Amino acid sequence: MRVAVIGAGPSGIYAAEHLASEYHVEVDVYDYLPVPFGLVRYGVAPDHYSIRSVRDKLAETFENPLVRFRGNVKIGRDVSAQELQEHYDAVVYTYGASLDRELGIPGEDHRMSIAATAFVRWYTGHPDAIDFGEYLPYASDVAVIGLGNVAVDVTRILIKPMSELELTDIPQHVLDALARSAVRRVHVVGRRGPEHATFTTKELKELGEIPGVDVIVDPKDLPSDFAQAAASNKVVARNLEVMSDWSKREEHADKSIQFHFYCAPVGMDLERGVLSVMKMKLDENGKLISTGDVKDIESQMVIRSIGYRGEGLPGVPFDQESNVIPSVDSAVVGLENSYVAGWIKRGPSGIIGTNKKDAVACINQLVSSSSESKATSAEIIDQVLADRGVNVVDFAGWKRIDAREKELGQSRGRERTTIHNRENLIQIGLGI
Ligand SMILES: Cc1cc2nc3c(=O)[nH]c(=O)nc-3n(C[C@H](O)[C@H](O)[C@H](O)COP(=O)(O)OP(=O)(O)OC[C@H]3O[C@@H](n4cnc5c(N)ncnc54)[C@H](O)[C@@H]3O)c2cc1C
Repeated sequence: MRVAVIGAGPSGIYAAEHLASEYHVEVDVYDYLPVPFGLVRYGVAPDHYSIRSVRDKLAETFENPLVRFRGNVKIGRDVSAQELQEHYDAVVYTYGASLDRELGIPGEDHRMSIAATAFVRWYTGHPDAIDFGEYLPYASDVAVIGLGNVAVDVTRILIKPMSELELTDIPQHVLDALARSAVRRVHVVGRRGPEHATFTTKELKELGEIPGVDVIVDPKDLPSDFAQAAASNKVVARNLEVMSDWSKREEHADKSIQFHFYCAPVGMDLERGVLSVMKMKLDENGKLISTGDVKDIESQMVIRSIGYRGEGLPGVPFDQESNVIPSVDSAVVGLENSYVAGWIKRGPSGIIGTNKKDAVACINQLVSSSSESKATSAEIIDQVLADRGVNVVDFAGWKRIDAREKELGQSRGRERTTIHNRENLIQIGLGI
């Protein structure tokens, strides 16, 4: 049996791992990037070393001779989903959710209003990233909209001292830009209250540990009855403790992170350096309602961290409402021998480990539904790609890139420096 997996992020690699090690199935894992690991490389924050090192564990999957990495191949452009259906016994879609969401408010299309998806891509060195480096010297105040862990990551990267960022694998041109940054204040803005935020406590707490940075929380935003607000959720209880502690702190640093809870963005005028927000409150039934008061938050740059969403692939069913591939027990609805796992199945939620459970369930379903193999040999699809001039980067190619990034980093006293240019990555990957 031969299976194609589309997307070499955690869910794709966990799916390949289970297919090969548990069922001894041959797997080709395709990714449109010349490197594997998806958001472990291009999402997880560069200063979260231990989480990023999950990469090394994921890489072990490709050491299994049954698993091939086929990097730099975009499904839907270089080869169609239908062609894969013809050459493999089954196709597993694990291509994630990479698009951003919009607020739908006036002024949002200004160049200094940036989606967190794009900003994260920039500082992690994604080959398709827009370069935001030249914006940073013009923004002393940045508003980060959203009350989740991605907003926390973005805030940390914007305000952390260079002495700490320099130790990470952030690409050199991004580090140089961060060194020129004028950012002094980051305003974390959310329409709901501290007890509704989806931060995890570990990530939240880190904000209070950044040297030279105050964290400001208005005590009036904290719920009057802590016990009641935290009753159903331990994370909420711990988060409230952290924020309550911050609300009592005195301010003395040059830089700050200020939380603006119960503030729904209603417009932005970034030429004037202003984000306008409607003050919200909870009514007696706990429903969020507007107070009618609008206030302005100084910000020359806005980063919208309000979620990721998936996109459709030609020839594969897609639910436009929920932005996922529709499935029942991981089997794609309306497409034979096709399965789905990870963010493109569940939507953008869950940590890396969540995808393992999901991928394993998906593969068990695939194997239990499969009949006799009809797959063609691996050479046929390889030849199709070669005929189309696609330069496939394999796992040996990733190892060359890995070695080069480590060399580059060590020459600068760091463990690794991410190479961000696609052509460079391909050339190193191909051993040119
Ligand atoms: C900013 C950010 C920070 C995060 N931080 C953490 C953290 O600290 N800890 C944690 O546990 N989790 C974290 N997560 C969550 C974690 O990254 C996800 O749960 C996980 O990466 C989802 O895995 P996936 O395989 O479904 O998707 P992805 O990781 O997105 O992988 C999808 C892959 O598919 C490829 N692809 C897309 N389209 C195509 C195509 N047409 N053809 C071929 N390949 C394609 C992409 O290039 C990508 O490599 C974070 C997420 C984000 C966004």
